[in-house]
Amino acid sequence: MNSDSNFELAGAVVGAGYVRRAQQEASRRAALMTSLLSQRRLPATAWTNEQIELLLHELAAMDSNNYVGHVGVGEREGRVFSELVRRRNFAFAHGVGRSGELAAVQPKAAGSSLYAKVCEWMTLHALRIAGLTEVTACAILPTATGMSLVLAFLALLPSRPPTARKVIWPRIDQKTCFKALLTAGLQPLVVQNRREGDQLTTDVAAIEALIAEHGAASIFGVVSTTSCFAPRGCDAVEPIARLCKQHGLVHVVNNAYGVQASATCKEISRAMRVGRVDVVISSTDKNFLVPVGGAIAYATDASVIKRISSAYPGRASGSPCLDLFVTLLSLGESGWSALLAERERLFVYARGKLAETVAPLGERVLDTPRNRVSLGVTLSQLPPALVTHFGAQLFARNCSGARAVDCAEVKTFDGVEFRGWGASADDYACPYFTVAVAIGSTQEDIDLFCTKLAKLLREEQRRAQRAPAPAPAPAVAVDVVAIEAAATSADEEKKR
Ligand SMILES: *Cc1c(COP(=O)(O)O)cnc(C)c1O
Repeated sequence: MNSDSNFELAGAVVGAGYVRRAQQEASRRAALMTSLLSQRRLPATAWTNEQIELLLHELAAMDSNNYVGHVGVGEREGRVFSELVRRRNFAFAHGVGRSGELAAVQPKAAGSSLYAKVCEWMTLHALRIAGLTEVTACAILPTATGMSLVLAFLALLPSRPPTARKVIWPRIDQKTCFKALLTAGLQPLVVQNRREGDQLTTDVAAIEALIAEHGAASIFGVVSTTSCFAPRGCDAVEPIARLCKQHGLVHVVNNAYGVQASATCKEISRAMRVGRVDVVISSTDKNFLVPVGGAIAYATDASVIKRISSAYPGRASGSPCLDLFVTLLSLGESGWSALLAERERLFVYARGKLAETVAPLGERVLDTPRNRVSLGVTLSQLPPALVTHFGAQLFARNCSGARAVDCAEVKTFDGVEFRGWGASADDYACPYFTVAVAIGSTQEDIDLFCTKLAKLLREEQRRAQRAPAPAPAPAVAVDVVAIEAAATSADEEKKR
């Protein structure tokens, strides 16, 4: 319809009065779009699904693969065989970016280029609302956190001398983080964490000592991690940022799921103000409730973001960006703020509820104030073999995401040995399990988990009192145990 003359013609058919009402509604929709394009931020309130779908159809109609009578004679014409696949993508087929740069406009795909740009504006606004107030530029990367870290490292390598390939890395026991360093060709200098009470914190003095020992000229930079499993806390990003500034080192922050934690965001903002933070990487799925596939790179200096998006060779899937675009429109500023506030409330609630649940069973919540998403609970009453059993049992009872760590496992990656793997420390004294109170968690989830936990923990404690203990299970983080067990039995099935 859209044009005035069409509404006039329609008025002659069904009555001018009725059409005038419809025309008013159409101009309200147009005003939403005007505001999105002119204000370059999240809409104040959520769009409805109908409004979003209408916009997606309009945007898709701007891409050349959807022009009626269009003749494509190239090898990349956005041809899609399956109607299901076409629908799954809202008829977008050109992805984002072009050979030169991820954020570049595609001449063939004005609509796709537009959602990509608007998504970037809305994401920037969402980051600022979360507390990342210093950020001035961001890019939606079409790879999950680990691979996005690799891309950031590679894009920043040329800013250091060719001899500067060592990287200082406060230990975090998540394999992706370590692999990202190796894949980028960096040589990790692992910094063990310091134990303060229950909590593991950054050994800033050890970082300083490493810089002195190896010499800044041989070091690429420091990779700090701000969201991690308890009992490790958020890295001391502010002192690290000061050191990086002082020694001219690159500082990349792995803030995988820290956007949802306002205290963490504030700490990163302070680090950005007083020291050097080149770029921060966060997951889209862990922070924005979309399927896995994307990450956000953000910085105070837009040229760093430009360097990262131009380091990306070729075009990329538009799906991570489109999912985020739709999600941010369905949240609006008020929805996003409410989600963040609810998570902060639930985190405090969960800490109290867990403490109350395990206290009668002789266990306690680890005191880790520098971790604002993950909570640890001691398993001091269980022998090591039962710790992994406990974890597997939680998984079997339909609880996913909890990790039981017995602090006894040794893993070696690329010749580097990690003792006490899973705990981010060689000798964390006490076995424990962790749970996360992440964005989108509900109070019902927490309550139900605590009910199952109380029952299971009591059972396992009784089992522990009945000697002899069962044969020790391999000491692995639990979610891995269950999956590996399933994979092994599937393999054996095949062999038969
Ligand atoms: C989830 C996570 C990663 C890996 O992220 P992917 O999105 O799976 O690549 C890396 N580091 C930390 C701290 C994480 O939490």
